[in-house]
Amino acid sequence: MMLQAASDPLLKVENLVVEYAVGGKVIHAVSDVSLEIARGETLGLVGESGCGKSTLGRAVLQLRQAVSGKVLFDGHDLTVMHGDSLRRMRQRVQLIFQDPIASLNPRRRIGDIVAEPLVISGVRDPEERRRRVSDVLAAVGLDPALVSGRLPHEFSGGQCQRICIARALVLNPEFIICDEPVSALDVSIRAQILNLLEEMKTRYGLTLLFIAHDLAVVKAVSDRVAVMYLGRLCEVGPSEQLFARPAHPYTALLIEAIPVPDPDVRPTQSIPVGEPPSPIAPPSGCRFRTRCPRADARCASEVPELRIVAPGQFAACHHPLV
Ligand code: ADP
Ligand code: MG
Repeated sequence: MMLQAASDPLLKVENLVVEYAVGGKVIHAVSDVSLEIARGETLGLVGESGCGKSTLGRAVLQLRQAVSGKVLFDGHDLTVMHGDSLRRMRQRVQLIFQDPIASLNPRRRIGDIVAEPLVISGVRDPEERRRRVSDVLAAVGLDPALVSGRLPHEFSGGQCQRICIARALVLNPEFIICDEPVSALDVSIRAQILNLLEEMKTRYGLTLLFIAHDLAVVKAVSDRVAVMYLGRLCEVGPSEQLFARPAHPYTALLIEAIPVPDPDVRPTQSIPVGEPPSPIAPPSGCRFRTRCPRADARCASEVPELRIVAPGQFAACHHPLV
């Protein structure tokens, strides 16, 4: 399968399978997912809650072991790495979570929280640590002199997310997985944090995997977008192109369901009613077929592979829209 993002991918995920065993049952959280992210690119990963986005992110970081598949970071397969070599690779990849307040230790001062990755990675000189913490706090728009001695509860959600971003940046990573970084924030704060991430991306030369359930947010920040449904990828393509001409019926429904700013205009269609099927017993063939307006017998019997539908655009559908 070809999913070429560019000639020089920083991250390559190949046929990744991740499962959870719960009460004797298997949850098929991520099933045979392949994707590439080019150096300097932002890939948006979107899909309904529970479709496996966070699991994919955690499996990339080796925080969750995959059943099978490869995670090639800069050419090295992280799934077979252990100990020191894995730790060294992990410093090049960081994670920013959805809930910034919960991901900060309430009893530690901001200066120590942001310095912690430096301590763990063996930066022994306290003066160097102080300097690097100050630099990165200033970079995310916080005054180091004012915030370093304070505790997390003294800050708003948006400020806590700035602190989390500082902590993620302090080791100069190359790649950051942003897992719904603005979902828990006030709508009024979201744009600020998205702008900050953009700014940091340029300043630090970052590559981003940007996870969100909200297509509008993903559209604003991504070069390319990958759409996920019940553990599988439905569609991958350049952002503008995918929004203008979605190929997978699920992508089309997600786009139609984006709320429009004008309160008098209702979304034309919405995501099919009802819960998505259970990842314990996903539908045969195309997993979206039970909610798809275009499904036929073939969709129940044959798993659709991701196939090229337009330059750079791939869809896993037997009846693509383009
Ligand atoms: P998303 O981030 O897209 O909302 P997740 O990756 O969190 O989705 O979850 C994918 C599926 O795996 C869901 O069915 C979820 O309930 C299940 N899941 C996630 N984490 C665990 C876990 N630690 N143990 C068991 N099941 C889990
Ligand atoms: Mg999640």
